[in-house]
Amino acid sequence: MNSRKPVEPLVNDGLAGEPPSKRVLKYVEGRKAKGSPVVGIYCGYAPIELLQAMGIVPAVLCSFSRVPIETAESVLPANLCDLIKSSYGFVMEGTCPFFALADAVVAETTCDGKKKMFELISELRPMHVMDLPQMPDQPEARDNWKQMILRLEKFLEETLGVHATDEQVEASIKWSNRKNRLARKIFEYAAMHPPVISWREIYDISFLALPSTGPEIIPLLEQSIEKLEKRVAEGVYFGKPDSPRVLVTGCPIGGDATKIFNVIEEAGGVVVAPDSCTGIKVFNGEIEENTGDPIGAIAERYLRIPCACMTPNTGRLHALSDMIEKYRPDAVIDFILQACHAYNLESYKIGNHVAEQHGIGFLKVESDYSQGDIGQLKTRIEALFETLR
Ligand code: SF4
Ligand code: SF4
Repeated sequence: MNSRKPVEPLVNDGLAGEPPSKRVLKYVEGRKAKGSPVVGIYCGYAPIELLQAMGIVPAVLCSFSRVPIETAESVLPANLCDLIKSSYGFVMEGTCPFFALADAVVAETTCDGKKKMFELISELRPMHVMDLPQMPDQPEARDNWKQMILRLEKFLEETLGVHATDEQVEASIKWSNRKNRLARKIFEYAAMHPPVISWREIYDISFLALPSTGPEIIPLLEQSIEKLEKRVAEGVYFGKPDSPRVLVTGCPIGGDATKIFNVIEEAGGVVVAPDSCTGIKVFNGEIEENTGDPIGAIAERYLRIPCACMTPNTGRLHALSDMIEKYRPDAVIDFILQACHAYNLESYKIGNHVAEQHGIGFLKVESDYSQGDIGQLKTRIEALFETLR
């Protein structure tokens, strides 16, 4: 940051200084206290517009802390990704406040580790697993996914006694599109040279905005844009004007895994685009409005999420190119959680695409939630930055 003065927090909800998870917890607790059912979700494919239209509060159950991993390894194999072990470890220990609030859990057939974890969790909560088509370009994929969303709706009606009309789903889509447009506008301040928003703030905004499609988040996002405009006028920015700009892609990043962002900063770089399901990715694109088939429109949009569990996942290459053109990074770092085969295998294509189509730096790193590899990560990232000079 170039200013000696403390920068005003972007989101002023009375909880400034609290980690995003605590702030989201307050929101979920508040809605639950007013009678809304809470449904745990584990993935970007969970159709939150439908949940919100039914009066349900979605609560993200993916965890990013190394603390419960040892507990999880008493049941799960050690060579499983830390995201799954952490998430299940919290459930085993009974220490996940979001799981404690959840009346049911919605899951999807993404990677094998998650699928098998869902079988274990189904013993503890009513659970609905959506059969996610994994070949999104096949002609029947969209209709199959629409059927899965309709089945989810039936499960929620029967389990929680909730209901939504097509008009309510359409209204939820419109709020969601508006929220996503505002979030994208906020992230555009990271495209500036130098960026006017930090990765911590992007991460904070993503966390706060993700579970809500309702009107309550809109004023917070609008206030953030006003504050960012003020920063532009005052010349506030992050990093240095010549800091290497980095786009971080790959597995979802949060909690202990944010070490990668800290290391990039310590090595002299600046993170301009955290592109994953915990970053900018989920706010890209829009659900088509006024189609007369709101569930079909939701199916269409969600199937376009470029997750490595899809094959072929060409959408990720297009999305990455769009992000590179927008945020103009000097390098892409592909962050792979150890034992995540889908993202690990896909990294070869990502590296080739970045080099051949964009001619910028690329580095693949495999890591976990431990802090033991920070020195090694720093050495490798410093070496990457050397090649950019
Ligand atoms: S990376 Fe894929 S499996 Fe993981 S949350 Fe995102 S969409 Fe779901
Ligand atoms: S990071 Fe990879 S292995 Fe872990 S839950 Fe996500 S897709 Fe599955």
